[in-house]
Amino acid sequence: MDQPYGTYLSVNLKALVHNYNFIKSQLQKPTQVLAVIKAFAYGHESVGIAKKLEQEGIAYFAVAYVAEGITLRKAGIKTPILVLHPQIIDVEACLQYQLEPNIYSFKLLEIFQSQLKTKGKKLFKIHLKFNTGLNRLGFKRTDISHLMAQIKQDDTLKIQSVFSHLVASEDHDLKAFTLGQIAQYTEIVGDIQKEITYPFIRHLANTSGTLNYPEAHFDMVRTGIGLYGYGNEDKWTNQLQNVGSLYSVITQIHTIQAGESVGYNRGFIAEKTVRTATIPLGHADGIPRTWGKGKGFIGINGKKAPLLGNVCMDMIMVDVTDISCEEGDAVQVFDNQKTVEEIAENVGTISYELLTAISQRVPRIVI
Ligand SMILES: *Cc1c(COP(=O)(O)O)cnc(C)c1O
Repeated sequence: MDQPYGTYLSVNLKALVHNYNFIKSQLQKPTQVLAVIKAFAYGHESVGIAKKLEQEGIAYFAVAYVAEGITLRKAGIKTPILVLHPQIIDVEACLQYQLEPNIYSFKLLEIFQSQLKTKGKKLFKIHLKFNTGLNRLGFKRTDISHLMAQIKQDDTLKIQSVFSHLVASEDHDLKAFTLGQIAQYTEIVGDIQKEITYPFIRHLANTSGTLNYPEAHFDMVRTGIGLYGYGNEDKWTNQLQNVGSLYSVITQIHTIQAGESVGYNRGFIAEKTVRTATIPLGHADGIPRTWGKGKGFIGINGKKAPLLGNVCMDMIMVDVTDISCEEGDAVQVFDNQKTVEEIAENVGTISYELLTAISQRVPRIVI
C-alpha cells in the first residue's frame, strides 16, 4: 500500500500515557514521577512528549543539557526541569529559563553561587548529585560537611533535591551492588537532612531501578526508557506499549543476476538471481553501518528483508527475493519493542542507542 511520507517516525502518545500510568501503578501513592526526556525524548520528539505528560500531571522533567531545556520552555512547558549535566557557562540560561541545575562538583557550585550572589538572586533551586558507584558525576559522602558549609554560607541556593544514579539496576547478577548503592544513598540523604531544616526531594531509581527495586523509590523516580516502552526485561516490556515506530517505503526494486553486486565496495555479491528493494534511509538517518551485510532487517509485508551490502548515507538495499512487494509499498523498520531489541542484539548495542540514533532528518509524526 502506498504511504505518503517517505521515511518517518510515528510517535504514539496513547502508548506513552499507558506507560506513564503503568509506571505509576508500581509506586506507592506519594511517590512522584520525573520523566527523562533528554536527547529529544530518546529520539522521539521532546516537545510533543512533554506537552502530553504535562497534561497528565507529571511532577518533573529532566534533560541532559540546557539547550534541551530551553527548547521545552520556548514551547511553553511550565513543569520544573532538572538539567542533568549543566556546564559552567550555563548559569545565565538556567536563570533566564527557570532550569534547575544538577550541581555535581565544587567547581560548578562555586561558579553558580558566586554568579547568583553578583546578580542578587536568592534561593535558586539546585539538585545535588552524589556519586555512589557510577563514577561519572557527583559528590562523595565524605564531601557532605564541606558541601553543606559552602551552601549555608549565604542564601543564594535552595536544595530542591538530592539524588544519585544506579549502576546496574537491570542486572540481577549485580543485585548486591545495587542494594549497596541504595544503602549508601539512604545514609547520604540522612546526613544532609541533619544539616538543613527544610525538606528536599529524594530520588535514585531510573526505569529498571523503579521496576526491580521498590525500596529505591524514595520520593520520586526518574524514568526514561520505560516511558517509551522498554522495561529491560520481557516481564516488564510486555506490559508496556511501543511509542516510536519507524516507517519507510520502497523507492525502487531491482532484479540482479549472479555475479552482480549491491552497494558501495560491492558489499554484497549475488550468487543467484536476487530481487532487491531500495529504502530511503541510511546512516545519516540513524541506521548505523553495523546493520549492513544482513545484521539488520526491514519488515516488508509481514516478512523480514535483510540488508544487502553496506549502509549508504541516505539509503539501504534489502533482499526481497522471497517477498511479494512493489515500489511504493510501506515498510517497517520497527513498530514494536521486540524488533528493536532483536536488531540491537544483532548489531551489539542496546535499545537506548538505536532510538537516540534516529537523526533529526527523519520527520516525527505525533499521533
Ligand atoms: C538517563 C538517565 C535516567 C533515565 O534512565 P532510564 O534507564 O532511561 O530510565 C535517569 N537518571 C539519570 C541521571 C539519567 O542520566
